[in-house]
Amino acid sequence: MTRSTGRGYGRKGIPRAPSLVGARYGRLVVTGRDCTPGEAPNVFWACLCDCGASTVARADRLRSGKTRACARGCRA
Ligand SMILES: [Zn+2]
Repeated sequence: MTRSTGRGYGRKGIPRAPSLVGARYGRLVVTGRDCTPGEAPNVFWACLCDCGASTVARADRLRSGKTRACARGCRA
């Protein structure tokens, strides 16, 4: 099946999703996408916590407010 090149698709055929970079969720600020092989794209995002630790969080958990800080004992 052939698809025209396209809008909405990156070079590797990964669907593009709205970037979360720069968004703040609780104590976390999204710094970039974290692509994990085998996982759906745009699901995991690298974040920087207010405490200075970096972490990776799932987009749906960020959006739902379930993840609001790094996994090192921070509490939002
Ligand atoms: Zn933290």
